[in-house]
Amino acid sequence: MLNAVKNLLTRRQIIGSGMGILGVGVAGVVTRNSPAIAQPAYKPAKEPPIPDEKKLGWAVVGLGKFATQQIIPSFSQCKQSKLVALVSGDRAKAENYARQYNVNPKNIYNYENYDSLRNNPEVDIIYIVLPNGLHAEYTIRGAQAGKHILCEKPMANTVEECQAMIAACNQANRKLMIAYRAQYEPFNLEAIAIAQKKQLGQLKAIVADHGRNLDPKDPADVWRMNKKLAGGGSLFDIGIYSLQAARYITGEEPTEVCAMTYSTPNDPRFKEVEENVNFILRFPSGVLANCTSSYGYSSTKRFQVFGSNGTLELDPATDYYRHQLTVKREKVQEERQIQEQNQFALEMDHLSESVMQDRQPKTPGEEGLQDVRLMLAIYEAARTGRTISVDSRE
Ligand code: NAD
Repeated sequence: MLNAVKNLLTRRQIIGSGMGILGVGVAGVVTRNSPAIAQPAYKPAKEPPIPDEKKLGWAVVGLGKFATQQIIPSFSQCKQSKLVALVSGDRAKAENYARQYNVNPKNIYNYENYDSLRNNPEVDIIYIVLPNGLHAEYTIRGAQAGKHILCEKPMANTVEECQAMIAACNQANRKLMIAYRAQYEPFNLEAIAIAQKKQLGQLKAIVADHGRNLDPKDPADVWRMNKKLAGGGSLFDIGIYSLQAARYITGEEPTEVCAMTYSTPNDPRFKEVEENVNFILRFPSGVLANCTSSYGYSSTKRFQVFGSNGTLELDPATDYYRHQLTVKREKVQEERQIQEQNQFALEMDHLSESVMQDRQPKTPGEEGLQDVRLMLAIYEAARTGRTISVDSRE
């Protein structure tokens, strides 16, 4: 306990003669004048958990790295969602996960008999965790099978595919949500609240960086080198988090983009997809966002927000289980103490709840379509060397 307190205190940094306790918001803070370290704002739910039979049933499609290491294990922390079916091209692998996670083997499907999910009333929602180039096909088939859809980011490779996915879900009267986990994650939500409640004053600029080294030996990275399966390079995979951050922090849509790309010559990883993209977004309020995206440097997932009266930094911003939010105003720097939560469980429960209450999810297909439209404009800006107008959503 003492060590924990010491750690918190050493993470505290005072950068001058402080002016008093800063705005606390929903999170705890550590500041110069805090008499004690505030407790994280986590409160146990008052409501009893809903019984298993009332939770919505989910099928996970694609048993790759992300599905098996993050998504499937997170169902144990869901309050309204339960895993009931698996879809995989590898029966033995699916049986193995079915055993581990208590899925009835009769609910194992493959890509050919996927459509027969329509005959399985245990499945309410399908979660598509396939390579990007397959999102459109499996979303449309899933909706036609009468199921609601959670689709991984990026939504698809083209605007036309995104529009077809939205149309198919509308036609089947099913919900479509894009898996933008950061929009359900508590540190990001706190950063959004700080920015939008003007606690930093008037927003002026955002810097957002996402990078990692693409590893051709990792099977999960092999399809990412293939344009048809990946849609694009680092931008489609992780630069999208920089783009998202700029959009959800401002709460605005950009009006113009300019960009440059660079791929190391003769690097076999970048024959079809780009390595680096730097792009600038102009927002209606005047905020300029400088964003980077790379497949060529070590793991980076951060953003900074600059306002007339202060700044905030979230680094890591889009990690799975580890975030750090620092807010600087006047001469005081504080680190917000927020309870980490399982963002995958929060995200899945959001869709279950939206289905139960017949509400539009917070990150619907239109949100995914907007990012695809913007990413394609970013490529166009880089290709032509021009600033591209991206006025508004259709
Ligand atoms: P992965 O390669 O580990 O998983 C993809 C799965 O699709 C594998 O099980 C593979 O067998 C299967 N598959 C079916 N048809 C295929 C085909 N024709 N070619 C290749 N694979 C095929 O990849 P991943 O990292 O798990 O990514 C899957 C999706 O999840 C992607 O859309 C990715 O952008 C997304 N993702 C999201 C996050 C996040 O934090 N939200 C993190 C990682 C990945």
